[in-house]
This record gives sequence, C-alpha cells and structure tokens, in this order.
Amino acid sequence: MKRPLVVIGAGATGIIASYKAAMDGATVLLLEKTDRIGTKILISGGGKCNITHDGPINSVLKAFRKNEADFIRPSCFRFTNQDILNMLTERGLNVYTREDGRIFPVDQTAKDVARILHTYLQDANVHIKFEAPVTEILAPGGKVEAVRLGDETIPTNHVILCTGGSSFPKSGTTGDGYVWAKSIGHTIVPILAALAPVDLPLQNLQIKAGVPLRDIILKARVQNKVIAQWRGDMLFTHTGLTGPCVLGITREISDHWQTEPAKLEVDLIPDLNFEQIQTRLTQFKNERPGSQIRPFIEQKTTRGIVPRLLATAEIGEEDINQHITKKQINILTQTLKAWQLGPVKEVLLDRGEVVAGGVDLDEVDPHTMRSHKVQGLYLAGEVLDIAGPVGGYNLQAAWSTGFVAGETAAADWLT
Ligand SMILES: Cc1cc2nc3c(=O)[nH]c(=O)nc-3n(C[C@H](O)[C@H](O)[C@H](O)COP(=O)(O)OP(=O)(O)OC[C@H]3O[C@@H](n4cnc5c(N)ncnc54)[C@H](O)[C@@H]3O)c2cc1C
Repeated sequence: MKRPLVVIGAGATGIIASYKAAMDGATVLLLEKTDRIGTKILISGGGKCNITHDGPINSVLKAFRKNEADFIRPSCFRFTNQDILNMLTERGLNVYTREDGRIFPVDQTAKDVARILHTYLQDANVHIKFEAPVTEILAPGGKVEAVRLGDETIPTNHVILCTGGSSFPKSGTTGDGYVWAKSIGHTIVPILAALAPVDLPLQNLQIKAGVPLRDIILKARVQNKVIAQWRGDMLFTHTGLTGPCVLGITREISDHWQTEPAKLEVDLIPDLNFEQIQTRLTQFKNERPGSQIRPFIEQKTTRGIVPRLLATAEIGEEDINQHITKKQINILTQTLKAWQLGPVKEVLLDRGEVVAGGVDLDEVDPHTMRSHKVQGLYLAGEVLDIAGPVGGYNLQAAWSTGFVAGETAAADWLT
C-alpha cells in the first residue's frame, strides 16, 4: 500500500491542509497530540473565534509586516478570507462582521467552527489519530522517510508540518516543530512574544485588577522614542496589563527588549488635545471651583482610576471642589494625555496569542509551501516566522498557507 501523506498537528493549518490534500486524492494521516482538533480554534477570540478579517486580500495583507505579507500573498489569493467563510457558512455557520472588520460566528462560539471543520475532515476520509505526539521527523540525506511516534515508526515521503508556535503550551503547542525543523536543516528565527499580556509593577499605581480602560491610546517608549502605539481597550490584571491595546504593541516591545524594557504610557482622552483638555478644566475651575472636574474625568475615563489621576496631580479629595491651582490643572492634563505606567517587567510569551519567529521564510517556497531544505517536507501556519496583529489575521494566514501546503503535497504524492 502506498505510504500516507502525513500531516502533523490538527490546528487551523493542519485541518485545511489535510482536507485539501485528501480531496485532491491523497491518502492522509493527520497526527494530533491532543484529544481533539482545533484546540486553539476553541480558545480563539475568547472562545468566540475571530475567523478572519473582512476586505479585499490586499488590504488584509497590509496588516502584516512586509516580508510576511510578501510570503503569504500567493496563498492568501489562492485561498481567501471569503473561501474559508464559504466553507463554514455552506455548512450552517452564520457569521457577522464587526465595525472594525473582524469576522465572528453569530452565535459567538468557536465550537461550531471546529465542529463544522471536523465534518469536512470526515467527508474527505482523513484518518485522524488523536493523542499521537510525534517525536521526530526522519529525513536522512535531506529526504523525508518517516515520522516517529515514540516507539512507532510511520513510513512516509510527504509530511506537512503544522505544529504551530509555542505559546499556550497547554493547548498542545510546545514548539516541537521548531526542534525537528532545525534538526533537519532549517533555520529558526528566534522566538519572541507577540500579541501577549505584560507584567508591569503596578504597586505604585494602586489600580485594582479588572479595571478596564476604553478607547485609549497605549504607547510604548524606548529611549524616549515611541516604538509602538495602539488605540482601543485594555485591562489591568493582578500583575500587569492585557487587552487588545497591549497585545497590539507587544511584538515591538519584544523586538526592542535587548535595548531596554519599554516604558508604557496612556493617552486617556485621544479625541481631545492637551490645550482642549486644559481649557475645559480651567473653565470648570473658574465657573464653580472644581465641582465639574471629577465628573468630567469620570465621564472621559474610568471611575476606578480617578483617585490615582487626582493623586498624581496632588489634588486631594477635599480640594477638588475648592481651590485648584493652575499647576495642578497642568499636571492633571499632562496625566490625562500621557499617564505613565512605568517599564514593562516581562512580556508573557506563554500566554500570547501567537509568537513571532519560527522557521525562516527564506527557506520555504511561498507558492507551494515546499521546504527548500528537505524533499517531501511542507511547512505552513504559525510554525513559520509569521505573526499578524489581532483581528483574524493569524487564522487567515493559517487557513491559506495550510490550503496551499495540502494542495502541493497532494500533487507531489500523486506523481
Ligand atoms: C488565546 C488565543 C486566542 C486567539 N484568538 C485568535 C483569533 O480570534 N483570531 C485569529 O486569527 N487568531 C487567533 N489566535 C491565533 C491563532 O489561534 C493561531 O495563529 C492559529 O491557531 C495557528 O494555527 P496553526 O494550525 O498553525 O497552529 P495551532 O493552532 O497551534 O495548531 C498546532 C497543532 O499541532 C499540534 N501539535 C503540536 N506538537 C505536536 C506533536 N509533537 N505531535 C502532534 N501534534 C502536535 C497541537 O496540539 C495543535 O493542535 C489566538 C491564539 C490564542 C492562543
């Protein structure tokens, strides 16, 4: 019997790769370490699954760094955001597009996405082996010969490697693919946290965990230069910060980590400039000494941080309705526009949505996902050095590269 085409990892990438390869005629064996498919799909988007991003592919690609966009362009055109949505909606999933372009299931559950994808695998006769942690890819002389599952050896000449990254290790992704890829000749670009929460000493700020900040701009500075900023929401945690704004800037923070830890600051009222806020506060002070200052700040920010903002400007609770100096107004305005949160202590790689780094893109053909180093090896998804921003971009990269890997591997398998 002909050796099967082996796909390692049943995440978004491996599911689509297996489906496409099987539909094109290959005998596909999908090996998954955990006891289910799509472990990360299930936790994606807070359990709601931000499936992809809306818009023409060229605009979706703009969200990625240039080298990454160049790499995934051919596969994103081959299997688009509309293609994955068609697959899911044809089998009953209703989706909606948020104002910011992010696309979710209407019933807000990732389980339906995974369930529907499972039906595709069943229909295509993909043989799935669960609780099957691959331990090695054997490729003597630069040619795939087999994969090892502990003591068991599975002969194969075609392997699609889709083991994902190394964040959220409990979901099965412990970076195994990097180790094998390196051992058979690939270069691994150093792994860095991207889209991750941060630890930050918050004792001085005295803000309770769970306090949110809405529609702010979070900025990261290194040597006084802004290296990244993101507008949106964020949340204080017990040890630091999380939320879209934080995730949106952590890749740059990781990039600059060797220089020095970034210092974070928040523009709490992005729609008003310094002068506008200063004028408003001064008017309040002159009209009815101070009485409207607190309601103004509470309305524009979040109640839970107001005592801290007032303390920074050395405005006591008893002063606020009485006498406030011009200097205090200036400090308060400054705090509202650039509230200093301090230096980041750590970017939490294992709790990130994706990692940056991975198999060097120069060593994989973007039109086919074939390895330039090893015959019979195809690489796709997060195991590659790709990390898009929050917004459904990472799953799209997984669907698209997985599809092309499946297509090419099946064509090679059949010849
Ligand atoms: C909390 C969280 C939320 C996210 N939300 C979103 C979102 O809403 N939208 C979005 O676009 N992206 C999101 N992402 C990112 C997205 O989930 C990933 O980019 C994407 O799942 C990568 O797909 P993949 O198939 O390449 O890797 P993975 O989904 O990580 O799949 C890899 C698979 O390989 C298996 N595996 C690993 N090692 C072995 C081995 N030795 N043997 C056999 N199997 C193995 C793993 O068990 C896993 O099932 C989120 C990520 C996280 C962690």
